[in-house]
Amino acid sequence: MQITAIPAFDDNYIWAIQPAANPRQVIVVDPGCADRCQQWLDDQHCELVAILLTHHHWDHSQGVAALVERWHCPVYGPANSPFREINHALQHHDRVSFAALGITLQVIATPGHTLDHISYYGHGALFCGDTLFLAGCGRRFEGTVEQFYQSLQLLAALPAATQVYCGHEYSAANLRFAAAVMPHSQAVIAAQQRVQQLREQGLPSLPSRLAEEHAINPFLRATSAAEFGRLREWKDRF
Ligand SMILES: [Zn+2]
Repeated sequence: MQITAIPAFDDNYIWAIQPAANPRQVIVVDPGCADRCQQWLDDQHCELVAILLTHHHWDHSQGVAALVERWHCPVYGPANSPFREINHALQHHDRVSFAALGITLQVIATPGHTLDHISYYGHGALFCGDTLFLAGCGRRFEGTVEQFYQSLQLLAALPAATQVYCGHEYSAANLRFAAAVMPHSQAVIAAQQRVQQLREQGLPSLPSRLAEEHAINPFLRATSAAEFGRLREWKDRF
């Protein structure tokens, strides 16, 4: 499958999944903006067959109503979400299958940023919304420190080659924080250079690779919930 970033707002990414079996039938993850999504679908001569949501925040879900009106497609999302337009409710360990398109994604409950946050993993790709970012993680709005730490541990256990598709372009700021936490890390310096080059070309810094996150992401490297909590508080003030 091919995965493309559709930029929206200041720094959001809507991810478009084009199945190898039929690249014109597109699944989008977190369509915060219907117009940006629809424009991309028109440009690519594609149709929208499903929407996947990671959590209820408006910048990930505000485009859903208009897209459903246009495409009458199913909306998958967390079972415990306050977002009302989800009609295929998902829980931890569920699978989302599009058999005709050869796509199956595994649902991983990742509460912390919000209580309803889920991530989708399959075909070597992870769609993790605002849970895990390149060299960072989301703010803790609803979950406990312990919940967020455990969620990151679940993602950390995925194969090292996993490509990480995050919900925002926060990489440069996250790497500045990572450099403060790990001032002697060559991996952080290398990531800063790579991200800077991509951004100067107007390209997304994503996806990240989980193997690299193990080296550069202070939150993923935390070895206890207490350490994670201290890092999150530090970053909030950074
Ligand atoms: Zn969010």
